Amino acid sequence: GSRDYSTISGRVRVAVRLRPQNSEEMIADADFADCVELQPELKRLKLQKNNWDSDTYEFDEVLTEHASQKRVYEVVAKPVVESVLDGYNGTVMAYGQTGAGKTYTLGRLGEDDAAGRGIMLRAMEDILAEVSPENDLISVSYFQLYMETIQDLLNPSNDNIAIVEDPKSGDVSSPGATLVEIRDHKSFMELLQLGEAHRFAANTKLNTESSRSHAILMVHVKRSVKGKDSSVSTENGNRTPISKTLKPPVIRRSKLVIVDLAGSERIDKSGSEGHTLEEAKSINLSLSALGKCINALAENSAHVPVRDSKLTRLLRDSFGGTARTSLVITIGPSPRHRGETSSTILFGQRAMKV
Ligand code: ADP
Ligand code: MG
Repeated sequence: GSRDYSTISGRVRVAVRLRPQNSEEMIADADFADCVELQPELKRLKLQKNNWDSDTYEFDEVLTEHASQKRVYEVVAKPVVESVLDGYNGTVMAYGQTGAGKTYTLGRLGEDDAAGRGIMLRAMEDILAEVSPENDLISVSYFQLYMETIQDLLNPSNDNIAIVEDPKSGDVSSPGATLVEIRDHKSFMELLQLGEAHRFAANTKLNTESSRSHAILMVHVKRSVKGKDSSVSTENGNRTPISKTLKPPVIRRSKLVIVDLAGSERIDKSGSEGHTLEEAKSINLSLSALGKCINALAENSAHVPVRDSKLTRLLRDSFGGTARTSLVITIGPSPRHRGETSSTILFGQRAMKV
């Protein structure tokens, strides 16, 4: 590719996105000021601690409630998609409390409203526009990770997928997962709809909600790239001029992973029992494992503790090397959620530490 990767740094790029006040908040918060104030041109966010005091944080990008889906895609995901097309692994994740806008940002289909489409659809649009059907293959798998179990959203009977790590290359695969080839935008949209329907059915059966699990979309890109050599070695070691041979194609494989994380809110232990408490523990385990891996990258640590959860094992390819990872933290404006908003901001800040 023609793009320059010399500036890829180990750490994750972090953007914050504020969603607009919803209709319920317009009434309930009418007499109160928002708890956050954004200064997008300075890439800063001010969090009001109380009436007289605020903290200021810097991010790689600050996206206000007026930021369009297109702009969010361009800032958060486009550079990752471009590097995936060039043969590197890439990951886009959304972190935040339930209702803060993770699914809107990543997974919104915008069926009657193309401008409203989220990152998944825009990423596929860009991928399909660049690959060629003759030389390249795009295929997709789609999972839900719930209570340390990986369920195939493209085949509901496949409800416990194993993760296999290649000890040499460190590559992660899930051989049991359904892979569907994608040839056009329409088939991808239908596949996302099918995945959502399966997710809803599975969660109804398990008596849980989609906010209690992670949704993970993997786009596998296999490209056949023309060889760069001007000549080709023959069996006896002689170099044959290129004009007399066919260039051997190089096969490049890369993967784009888009992760809609479980809601990051703390679940009140006193108010929950059994099922929900177990869910809360499982979410805390995976999100804190994710945080540790991202922090290890931010601190340039040689050891990234990927083994602590299935989530981080699945995302192993995203940590280190030439992988490019982008995190969008989503927040709402309501002062009633100041505590959760603050902890989301701190998660994003720790990911940025250099
Ligand atoms: P989450 O996935 O984090 O639980 P959602 O993406 O489902 O949150 O968003 C919660 C609600 O807020 C949805 O009704 C969604 O349409 C709306 N919403 C979220 N972000 C935005 C935004 N940037 N602009 C307009 N509406 C939004
Ligand atoms: Mg959601």
